[in-house]
This record gives sequence, C-alpha cells and structure tokens, in this order.
Amino acid sequence: MLKETIEPLSIQYEFAKRYFKDFLTERKHLSPYIKPEKTPLLIIDLQGIKSRYLGVKYHFSQFKVYYAVKANDHKDILKTLAELGCGFEIASSQELQKVLELGVKGDRVISSNPIKPLEFIDNCYRSGVNRFVVDSFTEVDKISKIAPRSRVYVRLVVPNEGSDWPLSKKFGVDVDTALDILEYAQDKGLVPYGLTFHVGSQCNNFRNWLIGIKKTSELWQRAKQRGLRLQMLNLGGGIPVKYTYEALRIEDIAYYVKGLLQKFMPSFPHELQIEPGRGIMGDQGIMVCRVIGKAKRGDENWLYIDTGVFNGLAEALGGIRYPFYLDREGNLKEWTIGGISCDSMDVVARRVPLPEPEVGDYLYILSAGAYTTVYASEFNGFPKPEVLCV
Ligand SMILES: *Cc1c(COP(=O)(O)O)cnc(C)c1O
Repeated sequence: MLKETIEPLSIQYEFAKRYFKDFLTERKHLSPYIKPEKTPLLIIDLQGIKSRYLGVKYHFSQFKVYYAVKANDHKDILKTLAELGCGFEIASSQELQKVLELGVKGDRVISSNPIKPLEFIDNCYRSGVNRFVVDSFTEVDKISKIAPRSRVYVRLVVPNEGSDWPLSKKFGVDVDTALDILEYAQDKGLVPYGLTFHVGSQCNNFRNWLIGIKKTSELWQRAKQRGLRLQMLNLGGGIPVKYTYEALRIEDIAYYVKGLLQKFMPSFPHELQIEPGRGIMGDQGIMVCRVIGKAKRGDENWLYIDTGVFNGLAEALGGIRYPFYLDREGNLKEWTIGGISCDSMDVVARRVPLPEPEVGDYLYILSAGAYTTVYASEFNGFPKPEVLCV
C-alpha cells in the first residue's frame, strides 16, 4: 500500500487528477451531470456496477455473490443487481423489504449479521429467508425458536490487520467455540450449514484470507470428526477499491483464494459464497460538492465544503482517505477540509493537496459509492446528499 503522507504533494494530486479524468473518460454518460445546480450530489454509475458485478462473478467463478446491501441500498442499485441474478446479504427488516419489493425471493437472500433483532428473524422466516449466521449460543436459541430448521453458518474470528476498516473485534469466535455452537445448533434442530469470516473492509492484506482459510480448513476437518457435515464456505466482504492508493485487484484476490482452497481444504466446499459491498460499489460513485468557505488558521489552510462526516463522509472518521479533485490550475497547497456542520469533529480530511479554490467551486470526491449516503444524517439541519443513478 502506498502511504500518501510521505509522498510529495504533486504526486498525490496527480493520482487524484488522473483518477478523476480516467473515471469520466471511461464513463462518458456521467459527464452531463457533473456540474449540478444543487450539491451535494452522489452520482452512481449503474453500468459500472453491472460490469463490476460481472467481473466478480467471472473471477470468483465458483462463488455465489450476495451483495452486502448496507454498502448502498439505493433502489436503482438493488434493482440493477437483482436483474443480473445477484443475491443479497441483509441485516434488517427494512433491507429485507427493499429486496423483496424487487421481486427477489427469500432463497436469494442471506443474513450474515451475527446478532439479529427477533422481529427481523421472524420477518425473514416468513419471507423464505432461512440462512443465518451465528456466533453465540444465544443466537442459536433465538433462531431455533423463531425460524426452526433454518441453516446456520458460524462466524470465525480472523485478523483484520491491513484493512482500512477493521470489523473483527465485535464479532466472531475461535474454532473450538465454533464447533460447539454448530453442534448445539444441530441439537436444536437447525442445520449446521457452514462458516464465514470477514477479513475487514477495504482489506489490502492477502494474509487475512490465508489465515481465514487455514482456520476454515481446521474447522472443516474437526467438524467432520464430530459428525457435522458442513457444505458451505462464505468469504464475507473485504474486497478493496482504489482510494488515494491502488488497491489489490479482484482477479488477484480470487486467484489467491482459489489457490488456498485447493491447498488447504481437505474436501472442496460444496457451496461457496462471497458478500462484497464496497468491492462492488465503492468506486462506482462520485460525490460532487461545493466549496463554501476558506480560512487560514495558524499554518493551516482550511477549506469548507457543503457536506461532511455527518452527511455522508462518516468513513473519513475511521481512516478512509478519499481522493479529492477540483478543476483549477495553479500551485498546490495542503488543505484541511472541514465539513458543513458546527461540530469540530466534522473534519473530512487533512493534508489534501489542491490548487487554491474559490467559494462556489465544485469539489469532487472520488470512490464515494459505498458507505456514504447510507450513513448520512441531517445533523445541524443540513440535508443528505441527493443520489443520482445513471
Ligand atoms: C459489511 C459486511 C459485508 C461487506 O463488506 P465490504 O467490505 O463492504 O465488502 C459483508 N458481510 C458482512 C457480514 C458485513 O457485515
């Protein structure tokens, strides 16, 4: 991974500039929309989503793809994916409702959130969704009561090092506990179906998949010894996209993972699943906002924009560094980009190289397709970005 902070300003800026130009050259149908009257606006490329989905399908050829709806649940996106035959990974009754409304049947839906509300499990069961993740005995109790005879897969804990958005501390169990949970589920009349792990979102470290598959292999063999016949391995999410640096390529991850499965799995899983969210959506969206103010505070050049961490850029707080571009020439300066609200936490990025803008200029935020508008609130009375899918 390239560490942008040690690079000269011009290299960082050229990376963002080239990204912006390439993005629009490859997506000519977006050009008419990039100077909107009203900002902030998130522009999503539906054709790009299509080709990305087909790319994932092609490279992960033996896998069923379940799009993680939380990454971006806009209706047009879900519709585009549903028409291509994509499955969906959901966590809430509202997400369930959204996919059912598109005519997707329950057997194309799974839920990989380890702790689920009772009412959600009930709604799933009634809609024909009967595959659930578990990582606690309590969850097995809940599912066996509300959704009897469902298939359950257990979530293993794996390292999330090298992922820009780590997830693993909150969920997941070790191999011993996983076996106990699967056995307990069988005793409760559920079907021990398989396992999953999540390497962390925006994962740029092959090693996390290596450890995940080694653990899978151990669990697979020991489950067999205990008379549990597992069928399914779910690889979770984690496929990274380009931000201020180039990410691992999907084809390389797929090649690596398939090699690991050949090498470490005693018997090949009957069914393979993958749940990309960011990997499908992240670089299919560009956020257009405007500069609303400038200030010099000590040595720091501040630039204020009409969105912020509460209106769509929440991931900036957790380490995601978006590429920024604005259409001006001139000497580069380092800018701190402040969000629109009064909150001092509302800082979108620091040390961003840009030419000097004027108030009213468009500022383009690349790779804003995933985990942006879905996080947005109307804190301080500022609206969420509009979304335009073209
Ligand atoms: C969020 C999530 C995903 C999607 O992760 P990405 O890194 O965005 O691909 C997949 N599976 C589960 C269980 C998740 O919680």
